[in-house]
Amino acid sequence: MQIQEDFSLRQLNTFGLDQCARFFSEVYSTEDLTEVLRWCDERAIPVWVLGGGSNVLLTSDLEGMVIKIGIKGREVVEETEDHVLVRVGAGENWHEFVMFAVAKGWGGVENLSLIPGTVGAAPIQNIGAYGVEVKDVFHSLEAIDKKTTSLVFFDSKGCAFGYRDSYFKGQGKNRYVICYVTFKLSKSPVYNLTYGNVEDMLHELGYVEPSLTAVSETISFIRRQKLPDPSRIGNAGSFFKNPVVSLAQYQSLKDNHPTLQGFPTKDGMKIAAAWLIEHCGWKGKRWGTVGVHDRQPLVLVNYGQGRGQDIVNLSQAIAKAVMEKFGVPLEVEVNFW
Ligand SMILES: Cc1cc2nc3c(=O)[nH]c(=O)nc-3n(C[C@H](O)[C@H](O)[C@H](O)COP(=O)(O)OP(=O)(O)OC[C@H]3O[C@@H](n4cnc5c(N)ncnc54)[C@H](O)[C@@H]3O)c2cc1C
Repeated sequence: MQIQEDFSLRQLNTFGLDQCARFFSEVYSTEDLTEVLRWCDERAIPVWVLGGGSNVLLTSDLEGMVIKIGIKGREVVEETEDHVLVRVGAGENWHEFVMFAVAKGWGGVENLSLIPGTVGAAPIQNIGAYGVEVKDVFHSLEAIDKKTTSLVFFDSKGCAFGYRDSYFKGQGKNRYVICYVTFKLSKSPVYNLTYGNVEDMLHELGYVEPSLTAVSETISFIRRQKLPDPSRIGNAGSFFKNPVVSLAQYQSLKDNHPTLQGFPTKDGMKIAAAWLIEHCGWKGKRWGTVGVHDRQPLVLVNYGQGRGQDIVNLSQAIAKAVMEKFGVPLEVEVNFW
């Protein structure tokens, strides 16, 4: 167990915010993790669990322990004619895992190419993109209960996945540290090209037929065009969730704003937060050292010298404007620390 003190987290969060952790430890096994958790418990030190730092907003220094999950490994634990079950360490990079699956010819995660972060964080908000969510390929996960340091298994039902949501953002928030995730991938992939311009772009890039490589490269191409690269400009992807409104509210909004698009879900109509933000005049707006991205208004950016609190203030101003103009509350997707 190696514990560092007064550790700068600047390189470990994609907003590039310069805050410190009083204590910091990277763990490479469940045993390491348990040891650090016990050390914190004995001293009543609060714990934050960090993956790739691509979905956290540091609003101050952290008077406690930040544990970075570095647990690695990819292992096939079951194989049939149709599918494989792959158990992956929580500290593995998500996109590298996607590349590994694509190279093996296993389908299911190709639409989730180029999402930053780690495998262990993927179930937390049920990452999703281009018509696919992690729940679609999820089999089970192994986590350590912070309270008891015992190992707990979760199946899909136990994770209670929803849109950018799971048990780990609700009742189970801050209680478990995910150590391994097992995915069920298909040996006979069915391609999902229905979202946006994926199919057209695939052909534009010169692919005649879809394949895992073609789909993955097409998604990566689209994402690179649309989203800012955190290594060049600090951001955490979509800052807000797309709101789901009642059919009645959607109809009334649509009557006043005919260009608004809605997508039916089981809970109502999902509308694009980016559209709402843009139509309040925030797209590309600069707010001191932070701002709203000029191509994707759902992404808040740090131009370099911004503080977490500047981003919080900006996000509140945006949410207020959207509420006043459209009567729609915006829910934050990023985790505030
Ligand atoms: C440019 C960009 C594009 C993005 N695009 C998408 C997208 O298309 N779809 C999407 O869904 N998301 C997207 N995101 C958000 C982000 O990539 C995901 O939320 C990702 O899963 C975060 O992984 P992470 O390892 O960086 O998590 P972190 O930011 O380190 O942590 C996020 C949360 O998960 C918790 N956590 C992390 N690891 C563990 C663990 N092992 N056990 C328990 N808790 C843990 C943390 O405590 C924190 O609360 C994007 C982000 C960026 C910067």
